[in-house]
Amino acid sequence: MSIPSDLDISRSAPRKSLDDIAERLGIGTHLLEPYGHDVAKISLQALDELPEQNQGKYVVVSAITPTPLGEGKTTTTVGLGQALQQLGKRSAIAVRQPSMGPTFGIKGGAAGGGYSQVVPMESLNLHLTGDMHAVTAAHNMLAAMVDNHLHKGNRLGLDPHRITWRRVIDVNDRELRNIVTGLGSGADGTPRQSGFDITAASEVMAVLALSTSLHDMRRRLGRIVVGYTHDGSPVTAEQLGAAGAMTVIMREAIKPNLMQTVENTPVLVHAGPFGNIAHGNSSIVADRIASRCTDFLVTEAGFGADMGAERFFNIKCRNSGLRPDAAVLVATVRALKAHSGRYRVVAGKSLPEELLAENPDDVLAGADNLRKQIDNIRLHGVSPVVAINAFPTDHPSEHETIRRVAEEAGARVAVSNHFTDGGKGAIELAEAVAEAAEEPSGFQLLYPDSDDLRTKIETIATRVYGAEEVSYQPAAAKALDSYTANGFGSLPVCIAKTHLSLSSDPTLLGAPTGWTLPVREVRASVGAGFVYPICGDMRTMPGLGSQPAAERIDIDDRGEVVGLN
Ligand code: ADP
Ligand code: MG
Repeated sequence: MSIPSDLDISRSAPRKSLDDIAERLGIGTHLLEPYGHDVAKISLQALDELPEQNQGKYVVVSAITPTPLGEGKTTTTVGLGQALQQLGKRSAIAVRQPSMGPTFGIKGGAAGGGYSQVVPMESLNLHLTGDMHAVTAAHNMLAAMVDNHLHKGNRLGLDPHRITWRRVIDVNDRELRNIVTGLGSGADGTPRQSGFDITAASEVMAVLALSTSLHDMRRRLGRIVVGYTHDGSPVTAEQLGAAGAMTVIMREAIKPNLMQTVENTPVLVHAGPFGNIAHGNSSIVADRIASRCTDFLVTEAGFGADMGAERFFNIKCRNSGLRPDAAVLVATVRALKAHSGRYRVVAGKSLPEELLAENPDDVLAGADNLRKQIDNIRLHGVSPVVAINAFPTDHPSEHETIRRVAEEAGARVAVSNHFTDGGKGAIELAEAVAEAAEEPSGFQLLYPDSDDLRTKIETIATRVYGAEEVSYQPAAAKALDSYTANGFGSLPVCIAKTHLSLSSDPTLLGAPTGWTLPVREVRASVGAGFVYPICGDMRTMPGLGSQPAAERIDIDDRGEVVGLN
């Protein structure tokens, strides 16, 4: 069976006015700031007007360890929100804003897919209300102030070799990974080696996502560490006098963006921090607003449950104080077959033909990953619900196998056909989620603030990833000691590792045990509020492939965008 392209479905969906969408949430039009017809920002005054005690159920959507193709968290998040609405609940969806780098790189659009999409997908994927540009501008203004400080006498005594603040741009451009700035004459600055990261990897983006209010964002921007003096003391954006101006640049960006799905379910799109070196979750501000005016708020956490959901619990919820009531784990036949170790799934390529044949035994052979990710939700005292995201190439016997594994592990489970059928395809899932959310939440953080940084890393590595132990390269050990000495030891940790394995080695599938997590380097996002140990190679500036998605993207005779999916 073939269904129309994502772009065609998106274009033909009847949209309601954003006033009507906001009304579904009980958000008055005086709180809406329209940006054209398709998106409106929600004023932060909403936080003052909406009563805090009206907390709806809070549901996070995560996944088993994915293949490089993604297993459908965004489509499931959207489909589940639509299904809850069909069940007569007041529901809303909160997702990240896609970065344009990957949109023109490998991915195409990232608005969900099929009949579970945020519309219009062109707006979502391209610029939206300019928040990405604001993050870029605020970030780069701080970079300019760092270099200007060096040029104008370096009153704070910054060591030019220990400046950690780079520049950002929302384009996949490998040529910018390592650059020299300040070339030319003495009047043109002080030459030093630096580089660019993609905007999603900016600490300003993580600050945007983790701030609880405008003034909290101001404080966090001020705490950003740009580098160190010769004697190792941190130098902050506040000391450089940059934090106020950065906040001014970001003052519109902190307001969440209201959109809708193909079924007119309200969607808050806000912030898009990277999923590896940052926590990969949409904003706290959006969740604080939406959870006060819904029965159910459904939000997505990037990558598998060991990454996005662990950070959702231990970084995002630690900051927001919101307590999740249920967690959805998206599982697919293709990913579990891949976890059997018998197939190789490669990004940007179609699935191997043999993987599509009916084979419940292979699904079972990969099931340890699902079992471990169910445990990872339970570790935090939250009820897991397994969503089997159905693909047209699946076989009923394979769904049955996943169902059995999930039930044996004590999780609720439902097959979800939201991609082909929209909300009505996810009714069984919505009912299971509603039931799970009715159970009293036993939510608990995995570690207290007071644990030292090594204990925090080891707790996540052994309890969530299944590692035997953690090893530290000398540079990593030294950084941990200096962060502790500088007073950053009470921050949570955001471990940067591959999302393609529970381990730090992307080739280890299933649920590997007996391995060591190697911490190569440790960095700190003090403003955002986490320390991030780096395990393996982490790219913070992607490159383009041999056939970038940009080659397919164009406008047609009527001036409409084509090729975004
Ligand atoms: P994630 O958020 O986990 O990365 P997405 O929801 O973005 O995953 O889905 C990844 C890709 O798979 C997208 O191109 C999406 O359209 C496609 N996809 C997801 N679910 C299905 C499905 N049930 N059937 C067909 N394609 C799907
Ligand atoms: Mg997604």
